[in-house]
Amino acid sequence: MNKCAQILESINIGIVIIDKDFCITEWNNWMTVYSNKTCEDVRGKSIFDVYPELDKKSFSRGCKAVFTFGNLVFLSSTLHKYLFPFKIQGSNSTFFTHMQQSCYLIPIRNDDDEVDHVMINVHDETENAVLDKQLKELTYIDGLTRAYNRRAFERRLQEEFARHKRTGIPLGIIMFDLDFFKIVNDTYGHQFGDKVLQNVVSACSDCLRTEDFLARYGGEEFVCLLTDQNIDQTRLVAERLRERIEQMTIEEGASSVSVTISAGIADSANCDNRVTLLKMADEGLYAAKRKGRNRVEESDK
Ligand code: GH3
Ligand code: MG
Ligand code: MG
Repeated sequence: MNKCAQILESINIGIVIIDKDFCITEWNNWMTVYSNKTCEDVRGKSIFDVYPELDKKSFSRGCKAVFTFGNLVFLSSTLHKYLFPFKIQGSNSTFFTHMQQSCYLIPIRNDDDEVDHVMINVHDETENAVLDKQLKELTYIDGLTRAYNRRAFERRLQEEFARHKRTGIPLGIIMFDLDFFKIVNDTYGHQFGDKVLQNVVSACSDCLRTEDFLARYGGEEFVCLLTDQNIDQTRLVAERLRERIEQMTIEEGASSVSVTISAGIADSANCDNRVTLLKMADEGLYAAKRKGRNRVEESDK
C-alpha cells in the first residue's frame, strides 16, 4: 500500500470520493467501520443509492458548487437531519440516535486543473453536540422538576411577545403557586415537598400542548406561556390544571396527600409589553390567593 493510501486508511475522519455522476470511487476504512460497507461494496455505485437517506437536494447543490466553481462547501447535521446516517451505540445514544456530523466537500483537480471529483470529509461531532446539549440543559432546565427554569422563561417570553407584536396572534399566560406549601413541607418534610413539585410538573405536562411552555419561576411558583390562546382559552387551560392538581394524590407512608394551586391569568390584549403581561398574571395570582385559594383569577386592578 502506498503512503497516501495508508494515510487514507488510518486517518480519523471519513473520506469518500465521488465523480461527476455522484458515483463513489473511494471509501476509506473510517467509513467502513461506521457503515459496515467496504469500499468494494460501494465502489462504482451512486452515493444516493448507497444512502437514500442523504439529503439529496443539499448534497447535490453542494457538489455542483464544488464542480462548477471549485470552492469548498461545508454541511452540518445541525442544518440537515443527518449526513451519513450512522446509528450511535453507547452512552451518547441517550442524546442522539445518529452520529452528529459535519462534512466538507472539497474539489479534487485532474492534470488539466479541472475539478472532476469531490472529496467528502466526514467529521464525527457527536461529543461536541452532546456537550452543547448538556450545557443548554444545565442553563435552561430546572434540575428538580425538569421543567424549564426562569432564565429559559425570560428568553421565551421575550420571543413570544415579539412574535405576538409582529403577527397579532394572542399570547396567554398562567402564573400559579401551590397553596399552603409551607404546611406540606412542615408536616411531611422537605423531601416529600420536592416529590410534590415533581408530580405537579408531570400533571401539568399531561394537560398541556407540546407548544405550551411550562417553567418553574421560583420556589413553588410556576408559569406557563400559551401561544395563540386568548383570555377565555387561557382560563380553560388554567382551570384544567387546577382541577388536575386538586385530584392528584401523592402517597406518603399511610397517608395520601393532596395539594391545590392558585392561578393568575392574563393575555396579550391591552398589554404593551411583556413586563405588563407578567405583572397582570402576578396580580391575578394574588387576587386568587386573597379570594380563598384553589381558584383562577384575572387582575382586578
Ligand atoms: P400560600 O398559599 O400563601 O402560597 O402559602 P405557602 O405556604 O405556599 O407560601 P410560603 O411562601 O409561605 O411558602 C412557600 C414554601 O415553599 C416555603 C418553601 O420552603 C417552599 N419551597 C420553595 N421551594 C421549595 C423546594 O424546592 N422544595 C421544597 N420542598 N419546598 C420548597
Ligand atoms: Mg405557595
Ligand atoms: Mg410562593
